[in-house]
Amino acid sequence: MLNVPPQAFPAPGSQQRVAASGRAKVPLKPGRSLMDWIRLTKSGKDLSGLKGRLVEVTEDELAKHNKKEDCWICIRGFVYNVTPYMEYHPGGEDELMKAAGTDGTDLFDQVHRWVNYESMLKECLVGRMAVKPIAAPKEISSTLSEEKKQLNGMLSEKGVLGASTKDVMLSYDWFQTDSLITIVIYTKQKDLNAELVIVDCQDKRLRGEIIIDDHSYLVEVDLYHAVQEDLAVNITEKVGKVEIILKKNDNIHWKMLGQPLENHNTFIKRTDRGQFYRKCKLVSKTEVTHDTKLFCLMLPKSTHLRVPTGQHVYLKQIIAGTEVVKPYTPVLPFLPLDFKEPSCHDGAHIYLMIKIYSCGPFTQALEHLQVGDYISVSNPEGNFKKSQVQASEDLFLLAAGTGFTPMVKLLDFALTEVSCLRTVKLMFFNKTEDDILWRNQLEQLALKDKRFEVKFILSQPTKDWMGKEGKISSSLLSEFVKRSSKYSKVLICICGPTPFTEQGVQYLKDLGYSQEEIHAFTA
Ligand code: FAD
Ligand code: NAP
Repeated sequence: MLNVPPQAFPAPGSQQRVAASGRAKVPLKPGRSLMDWIRLTKSGKDLSGLKGRLVEVTEDELAKHNKKEDCWICIRGFVYNVTPYMEYHPGGEDELMKAAGTDGTDLFDQVHRWVNYESMLKECLVGRMAVKPIAAPKEISSTLSEEKKQLNGMLSEKGVLGASTKDVMLSYDWFQTDSLITIVIYTKQKDLNAELVIVDCQDKRLRGEIIIDDHSYLVEVDLYHAVQEDLAVNITEKVGKVEIILKKNDNIHWKMLGQPLENHNTFIKRTDRGQFYRKCKLVSKTEVTHDTKLFCLMLPKSTHLRVPTGQHVYLKQIIAGTEVVKPYTPVLPFLPLDFKEPSCHDGAHIYLMIKIYSCGPFTQALEHLQVGDYISVSNPEGNFKKSQVQASEDLFLLAAGTGFTPMVKLLDFALTEVSCLRTVKLMFFNKTEDDILWRNQLEQLALKDKRFEVKFILSQPTKDWMGKEGKISSSLLSEFVKRSSKYSKVLICICGPTPFTEQGVQYLKDLGYSQEEIHAFTA
């Protein structure tokens, strides 16, 4: 381990003031506060300089990055590119530079032990310090300590990919115990999470897809033997490792994982990967309004799938002998009012709020589905990125009719997980009062959370309606979509009938909002 003398840390310099803790602090430039740093880390900017790729760093390589404009530091075995953090460091640039190109662990432990650098510098992670190869099997075997280990299957088959993109190297291994088969996929991508991993096991066909930006990596095999219905997926976010754990039907030794299928071990653009469907059981259908219902679908036990906020799935039905596919945006079972924790998605159910049109072929077929029937549900799609919300202070949602559906998870995410948001406002357009989806819940939410405000606009109200009347217009928007302060960062999301969305976007642009500040949900 490379060390820097601790006495170097109490930072010198007349401009520095010493905090109560004794830690040296320098005045930070405007726009360089902790909140500004957090916002920057959530902005989707490439802070590590490696476009999300993780590399193994040798001591020689680390030492090369020792300048203010190119500064890497190792902390507890992980190497961070702290160049973008320089101006945000409360201790000042000079202090940070003391550890430039070296292992600063001891230094940080002495001065900043209480700071969670792993979290603060997550977006700056370059990779691990190069380790001796012996470490890898130890990590894998330790995950199965309760099982009698038979690692003779381990590494017996290995798919390594290199041809399709220069930057990404994915690989997988598999190994077995008496009762389990574990497939391990190494993505070397940080921030891998449950939403980026989709696994299905139907009959003996195993399909594991990993989403990496606009690409997808696939492990797809016809398994050597049958497995039980339920499977487990473990994700180690920090190193981008995914374990798919299958339970053997019979505790016999497998000679191989199985036969690779056509697209096995490929890494291609998501758009080039055909849609994959699994059959989900309709477990309930409840009324939301006179024409809209909440459909609860249960995923098979052998599926791991989480639909990300702002994304939709496709439903597939055979209507009059023809396969018909339509998109729907999953919602939550209800609007959570207690925003203490991220809402509990059990992962087993998908909720869809669907308006039934009397002359709509697809929704009429849905209306005729009975509880216990099955329907095909695709993998998620969509280009909304949560980081757009995480970088905002004001969030404005403009919804018309069922265009409310993407706003449900968005509201939950914004109010639960985005602490820098000051205002969250929903303007909800409907024809009549009877058409308003979850009106009561929205009003309750507005009472419960001061940051949230809801306005209902009706285009065909009865004469008793006390609220606003009309359609989306420049004057309505200019009143509603106002920054909470002159320079506050704004995100405006809009969804509804296509002409509503298109008009809305145009009005917003005319009002001076930029393309980056507007997200339109479209097909
Ligand atoms: P359609 O045949 O599409 O008819 C629907 C209505 O439009 C009827 O009143 C019909 O008379 C009228 N119509 C049809 N064609 C025309 C035309 N050419 N000109 C004028 N009017 C016409 N819907 C939901 O309820 N919930 C959701 O969560 C949801 N999410 C969506 C997500 C995305 C990304 C998109 C693009 C759409 C989403 N939709 C959602 C809409 C959904 O995909 C279907 O379009 C809807 O369910 C209607 O399907 P349908 O076949 O029953 O009716
Ligand atoms: P709706 O009840 O027909 O309309 C809702 C409100 O929007 C009404 O006040 C209506 O006013 C107004 N409106 C309709 N067309 C308009 C237009 N051209 N200009 C201005 N205002 C207009 O809506 P819906 O039947 O629920 O339909 C919802 C739409 O959202 C569907 O087209 C669906 O495909 C879309 N959607 C898209 C997504 C996505 O992610 N892309 C997700 C969910 C839903 P009027 O009284 O004048 O009709």
